[in-house]
Amino acid sequence: MLIERIWPANEFRNFHYLVACPETGEALAIDPLDWRRCLDAARARGWTITQILNTHEHPDHTGGNAGLKGATHAKLLAHAKAASTIGGVDQGLNQGDVIRVGRTVSLECLDTPGHTLAHICLLAHADAPALFSGDTLFNAGAGNCHSTGRPELLYDTFAKQLARLPDATRLYPGHEYLVRNLQFTLDREPDNQDAAQLLSATRDTAHDAAAPVTTLGQEKRVNTFFRLHNPRIIARLREQFPDLGEHPEPKAVFLKLRELRDAW
Ligand SMILES: [Zn+2]
Ligand SMILES: [Zn+2]
Repeated sequence: MLIERIWPANEFRNFHYLVACPETGEALAIDPLDWRRCLDAARARGWTITQILNTHEHPDHTGGNAGLKGATHAKLLAHAKAASTIGGVDQGLNQGDVIRVGRTVSLECLDTPGHTLAHICLLAHADAPALFSGDTLFNAGAGNCHSTGRPELLYDTFAKQLARLPDATRLYPGHEYLVRNLQFTLDREPDNQDAAQLLSATRDTAHDAAAPVTTLGQEKRVNTFFRLHNPRIIARLREQFPDLGEHPEPKAVFLKLRELRDAW
């Protein structure tokens, strides 16, 4: 499986991805808002975009569909429940569906509500597994629930699906928010050395296009939303929310963190 991460340097800080079969050169474009840049990247690699996937229905993920479909006649895939909102969807996806790209790539669809009610993450079971997480999971952070989402569902998605993925899983999110998210981690947990080290290493990076690809194992060390049993995080939350109790349920911790991050 070949992965090309595309940084359009736009105001939303999107990441676009091409996932290609090394044998046939067929490629899937994920959330290709800047579709011309995706098409140029595919051509430069000698790939043919045959499918487009939207992780969810927000315009910063779907806005390139018409242009890229027009240029390539690629098939558009999206969550079955988001299809009518997005429009022009050729195949609706449900939990457990498998998308095949060329002869060698297969991507499992995970139904991951929370950021919106109809969100798909893609899981590649390669030697080194990979997760394309849209706006559900970011480097060191979690998606917001500002539009149609629900924090309780986002918690379920984290606890029952994402936290159970192998530590070696590489993470490919829909946006680049790493520095801001690490700053939130350190605000909640000032003695988190892994987060501090990653923040200083990231600040040294010359350009956003070179932002690191983290793994789920790393996320469990630097992402507050995976650290719900951490005594330091709980103690600091209780300064603001004394009702939380000494041994709160992880769901209660997650919801308070999400609420704080919304206003942070
Ligand atoms: Zn979104
Ligand atoms: Zn987005």
